[in-house]
Amino acid sequence: MTLSLRVSEDIIEEIRKSIDIVDIISEYVQLKKQGKNFIGLCPFHGEKTPSFSVSPDKQLYHCFGCGAGGNVFSFIMETEGLPFLESVKKIADRMNMAIPELEHVTDEATSKEDSITKIWHNAHALSAKLFHHVLTSTDEGKEARDYLRNRGFTKEVIDTFQIGYAPNSWDFLASFLEKRKFPMDEMVKCGILSVREFDQKPYDRFRDRIIFPIWNNKGDMIAFGGRILSEGNPKYLNSPESSIFNKSETLYYFHKARPSIRKKNEAILFEGYVDVISAWKAGVDNGVASLGTALSTTQAKMLRRLTDHVILCYDSDNAGQNATMKNAAILSEAGLQVRVAILPDGMDPDDYIQKMGVDRFNKDVIGQSLTLMGFKFQYYRRGKNLKDDGERMTYIHQMIEEVSKLSHAVERDHYLRRLSEEFSLSLEALKQQQIQVYKQSKGKNEERKVVHSNFSKQQKRLLLAYENAERILIAHMLKNNSVANQVQRKVGGAFNIDEYQAIAAHLFSYYADGFEPNPSSFIEYLEDDKLKRITSELAMMTITEEMSEQELADYIKQIKNYPKRLEVEKLKVERKKLEEAEEYVEAAKIAMEIIKIEQDIKNG
Ligand SMILES: [Zn+2]
Repeated sequence: MTLSLRVSEDIIEEIRKSIDIVDIISEYVQLKKQGKNFIGLCPFHGEKTPSFSVSPDKQLYHCFGCGAGGNVFSFIMETEGLPFLESVKKIADRMNMAIPELEHVTDEATSKEDSITKIWHNAHALSAKLFHHVLTSTDEGKEARDYLRNRGFTKEVIDTFQIGYAPNSWDFLASFLEKRKFPMDEMVKCGILSVREFDQKPYDRFRDRIIFPIWNNKGDMIAFGGRILSEGNPKYLNSPESSIFNKSETLYYFHKARPSIRKKNEAILFEGYVDVISAWKAGVDNGVASLGTALSTTQAKMLRRLTDHVILCYDSDNAGQNATMKNAAILSEAGLQVRVAILPDGMDPDDYIQKMGVDRFNKDVIGQSLTLMGFKFQYYRRGKNLKDDGERMTYIHQMIEEVSKLSHAVERDHYLRRLSEEFSLSLEALKQQQIQVYKQSKGKNEERKVVHSNFSKQQKRLLLAYENAERILIAHMLKNNSVANQVQRKVGGAFNIDEYQAIAAHLFSYYADGFEPNPSSFIEYLEDDKLKRITSELAMMTITEEMSEQELADYIKQIKNYPKRLEVEKLKVERKKLEEAEEYVEAAKIAMEIIKIEQDIKNG
């Protein structure tokens, strides 16, 4: 095993050396030469002016807009949503390089995955195959098959989403996995099986349920969702969270919808996987779902890297509409333009498509989606009797507050007019009230700012100095191993920013392993995606060819002094507090401490 992996690593290095990142990326992005680099529109986020840069010298790319970055393999992994070795193979194929060792690369060959994770992924994939077989080809699956057929799930849909059926048995899957020598305790840990409390015996978690596999961004199967077939509770049962299944980092169908989201520059966000599948039947191939109604900022950012437009299409019940309000705020915060698709009362997307058909779903629901403000006009009306004076005034006030948050005067004017017309109110009065609301909220914000800025200005200036020093040092260390050696001796792991510290530590061991300076190959050496991105960014920085001894010494000093300076700032605040409380003796003690540290900083 180790041997074959080592061979692979050499081959990977060979491939990396023999291709040009510019050739590969040009197939996805229109690149223009600018100085030493090429620039173009970033494929990972929507933009109108190019901030995506590719360096043929360093064989790296980096986007100054969204922070995406890496080498040629990261690029293919990210754009195609492929695991590492499959990306390597894709590139080799494209360059017509015949690499026999790569011929058998499939999902089981991801070299860097640790073996337990691989077992978990494989167990999911194999179980899904079994459930799929039961559903499509056995008598036991007939009832589920009929149920799905009646709901318009064609063979194509069932195959595409690898839908299956878990029979009503306590040990159907458990004994299947045991026979295939999967470790039973791991099967419980990854949530495929449950465990009996009194004798710790594993049994099937999913029984008499239609099974919907759930994938991660790379297309590995990481969990199951199960819908009960007959009566029973809960109606939907998902795998528990585990080290491979983190709900807040997972969007259902994201790995497949990604190219379409990018191409259409729009994602449609649903509440659940059944909605995504129903919409797919209607030709909506850019739909994804969060698992549960709460959306995380991580999920919002995942979408933001592909597009700047999201349509929320949730159930029309109260829970769905409240979730729409909440999630719209999270999406807007992440920089996405949000629209809302409205379904008739009491319907979810699946019901609607069943009853009204795919054309009307596209035309009347998705096609008629409202702007976020348009949605808010409807949302705040819910449950209010607008004929009642009090409730009407509450509504108008809520809308004025929303209008105040808009940054464009034209927009504000538009919506105030709408309110004025609907409720026969004077536009002037509405405008005045809106200005008042705006001033009040601005006042609150400014109070908050003042409290914050007290000592953070000084902190910020320091932060910039040491952050800059750490960035420049790493940029030089990537180019030059003797700089890295000196930094290792003088600074060691004492970088102040965690990510830089991690990159420096990896870089030290990279050189210790005998590798030559080469940012693109170093990125291969890193396992963490975030570190890869940051490394590309630092490697693409414009720096001087050589760094003088004096410069090096200065940067090192800045890094080492930062924690001391921070301490001084803290002590100064403390001293001021003590002085204000007239505790002069204590204040004097602190003043002495400050002097000592400042001396220490000066002496370096
Ligand atoms: Zn970008």
